[in-house]
Amino acid sequence: MASKQAVHMKHGQGETSYARNSSFQKAEQNRMKPLIEEVITDLCSSTSTLLHGKIVIADLGCSSGPNALALVSTAINAIHNHCLQLQQPPPEIFVLLNDLPDTDFNTVVKSLVTLRQSKNPVVVTGVAPGSFYERLFTSNSLHVVCASNSLQWLSKAPEDLTRNRIPAFDIDEHARREMLPMVREAYEKQFRKDFKLFLELRAKELVSGGRMVISLVGTRSDVIASKFSLFPGIVAQILSVMVAEGVIDKAKFDSFYVPLHGPSIEEVREIIKEEGSFFIKEMRVHDPTAEMNIALSSPSKFVNNLIALFEPIIVQHFGEVMDEFVRAAELHWSLDVDGSLREERVRTSRAMLVVSLAKED
Ligand code: SAH
Repeated sequence: MASKQAVHMKHGQGETSYARNSSFQKAEQNRMKPLIEEVITDLCSSTSTLLHGKIVIADLGCSSGPNALALVSTAINAIHNHCLQLQQPPPEIFVLLNDLPDTDFNTVVKSLVTLRQSKNPVVVTGVAPGSFYERLFTSNSLHVVCASNSLQWLSKAPEDLTRNRIPAFDIDEHARREMLPMVREAYEKQFRKDFKLFLELRAKELVSGGRMVISLVGTRSDVIASKFSLFPGIVAQILSVMVAEGVIDKAKFDSFYVPLHGPSIEEVREIIKEEGSFFIKEMRVHDPTAEMNIALSSPSKFVNNLIALFEPIIVQHFGEVMDEFVRAAELHWSLDVDGSLREERVRTSRAMLVVSLAKED
């Protein structure tokens, strides 16, 4: 685990790219729209004294493809509509996009130029490559931060597991059940640490009264009893079949960790309160089963979505095994052809969380 894990999404515009396999995440962004519009209305209202003629908006973990610009476009349109309605001059807008340095920024930058040209009056743009678990912007420089579908990615796999060589997903079912509470606790602890740091950093970068709208893939609060609670369980199951077939080494499998944690709404609320820089304006939870079923409704969609999300991290750890991975994923699908297992997995574990926050004065 010496080098940083490749948690960026799959590049390009190809069939298995994130750009072509992010409709589920798009639905989530649409859900954030009214909350972003509300933030803009508050900040642009005549009683607000925050803007001084310019507004700085950042999207953290933007990835590439059609979703990369969706949140900032929502904000820009909301600013224009608001100002048009009230016949007030719009502020100058500075839009900043962030993701990890290995992201496909070439595509992102080209679309940013189009965004800039299509807007009148002033919209300027920039990218801020780096981890959102580090400082990205100068102090008191941002008015709005958005992040969709990205904060479930941790800064790293839990050290309590990696240091003690405890597999996140033991192939032996009995051992896996035994270890589950410890594994879950290690992931929870890492999420707590990371999310707290994220809030601290953004509190420094946002102006007083600045706002944040985030969405992340979470876990249902009552999931403790569920046998599916390990977050990237499907990937682990597919890889474990590849171990049984001798395609990948068991020791290699045991040292594979996906740095993902889907928190419950209570976990998120508690950390925000504990950290103390923000207050919660609104919090929404919803069941993603229907949307996930559509996004994963055929073997090719299922496989392409897995590749778009996990190919970089799998290849980094196991080498060129994607042909075998695809075959094992197709097999996984065919064993659950009516989708009942997949549906149960989603229904009994996933919850999508959307939170709107304001920085305390
Ligand atoms: N916001 C987009 C992309 C979500 S995919 C959408 O809603 O469709 C999650 C993104 O978070 C990926 O692009 C991944 O590279 C990025 N990400 C994960 N960890 C990150 C970190 N520490 N800092 C910045 N970006 C990160």
